[in-house]
Amino acid sequence: MRTTRYAASLAALGLMLAACGGSEAGNQAEDAADSNVEVQEEVDFEAGTTMAELAEAGSMTVGTKFDQPGFGLLNPNTETPEGFDVEIAKLIAAELGIAPEDIEWTETVSANREPFLQNGQVDMVVATYTINDARKELIDFAGPYYEAGQDIMVAAGNPEGIEGPEDLAGKNVCSVEGSTPAQNIRDNYPEATLTLFDVYSKCADALANGQVDAVTTDNVILTGLVAGSDGAFELVGNPFTEEPYGIGVPKGDDEFRAFINDTLEEAYESGAWADAWDRTAGAISGQEAPEPPAVDRY
Ligand code: GLU
Repeated sequence: MRTTRYAASLAALGLMLAACGGSEAGNQAEDAADSNVEVQEEVDFEAGTTMAELAEAGSMTVGTKFDQPGFGLLNPNTETPEGFDVEIAKLIAAELGIAPEDIEWTETVSANREPFLQNGQVDMVVATYTINDARKELIDFAGPYYEAGQDIMVAAGNPEGIEGPEDLAGKNVCSVEGSTPAQNIRDNYPEATLTLFDVYSKCADALANGQVDAVTTDNVILTGLVAGSDGAFELVGNPFTEEPYGIGVPKGDDEFRAFINDTLEEAYESGAWADAWDRTAGAISGQEAPEPPAVDRY
């Protein structure tokens, strides 16, 4: 209960700071940090479930991205990540009675999400994580809670005239190890020369210094990188896959998955999901919250 009150007063402080002005960037940071989550004060879960264990512990470990503006970006001042994925994780934690400040954030890059779930390094992963059958062999997914699509980012003015994946033939394109977009290029566009890093911010650096002609991954990740590029990059804007984002949980934990799906549906209903979007990815892209996707209770 103490932590709940503490969270509420922190939120009020955030509002006050925002109202007092300050730099625009500062205000944005306040907005993202100012989660409007209502932490449950009394929770009651069946003994032996993951929910009961986490609620009892009063903390949980969440894997997310640390270098993706709008979804999961580490704020060096607070040393915590900010973004839509981070807000989704906070909503789930709040239903377990866990306040945002009691979440331990672990950086998961694209390639280590399944192993981190498999070996228990994280309790769940919320990290622009596409639901697919290959991954479902190893872990399970709640959601989807968002639908992205693979797209391409190029230098401003599009000097190479890249309008879609077919135009990547003979070009140097950057993506990330262990990601669905990298796999798609390997499988379906083998004439592209693929450069792989562990995180997308390194692809952005490679595009900036001319080492590659293009970067490919989900449109919403690229939108965040374009927004941070000071006009150096642009999005082709022609998505060519479907990337439903799920919340990764350990394989076989059907109760935890069902609980997260319930929480997502409640957040759709209450407006908390749309509010989280507006304060994070929506604020960066200028795009209104879309209709949330139906969760898939497979
Ligand atoms: N959504 C894709 C994936 O899960 C690309 C984004 C990412 O690498 O996180 O692989």
